[in-house]
Amino acid sequence: SVVVITIDGPSGAGKGTLSQLVAKRLGYHLLDSGALYRLVALSAYKLNVNLQDEQAVADVASKLDVKFDVTGDTTKIFLAGENVTDAIRQEAVSMNASVVAAYPKVRAALLQRQKDFAQAPGLVADGRDMGTTVFPQAQVKVFLTASAEARAERRFKQLQQKGVAVNMEELVKDIKARDDRDTQRATSPLKPADDAVILDSTSLTIEQVLNAILAYVR
Ligand code: C5P
Repeated sequence: SVVVITIDGPSGAGKGTLSQLVAKRLGYHLLDSGALYRLVALSAYKLNVNLQDEQAVADVASKLDVKFDVTGDTTKIFLAGENVTDAIRQEAVSMNASVVAAYPKVRAALLQRQKDFAQAPGLVADGRDMGTTVFPQAQVKVFLTASAEARAERRFKQLQQKGVAVNMEELVKDIKARDDRDTQRATSPLKPADDAVILDSTSLTIEQVLNAILAYVR
């Protein structure tokens, strides 16, 4: 059967980087579930759909025309044929993604699409509810955390590298607002699965976290 490794946790804990590294090391597929919520937010915006209208946003989610184009280490994301790889990472899209993610109908609309990523030989699934809701039978479940300040600092460095001007206090505020929405929503709130290993990456290097995760897999 297909091996599934779930890596859940709050924004900026390093899930994206770690999931990519683990998938590469093991030759597994990768599901960036956050990208799906980001795509719903971006698509709704492009289609002029009211973000307060749950049913309308859920319709956008079920019709989402998305393609993940994987070549070597890079994944390009296409929405209705348009390359939106960078567009979905904007702060405004991050915020709106956590708004649409609070809608149960949106989560339901994306469920099967996420399950379909589980293909041989295995999958690394990155998100908030991979171990609790989407892949409750996963063989390895990791919950990756870090302090809000450490997470904001990482995000700050990433944005700086891209030449995006950001304010550290704003980032900490944004991250906390997203954490609150993600942990307080009624459907699939952000929380570790009962059988998840909790890893705090605040004072660990990427290499150390990677080795810890690989040790659980073996
Ligand atoms: O991980 P990322 O920051 O790309 O996710 C964007 C947003 O999508 C999160 O803030 C969260 O609200 C939502 N999300 C979710 N469930 C997932 C993945 C992401 O609710 N499995």
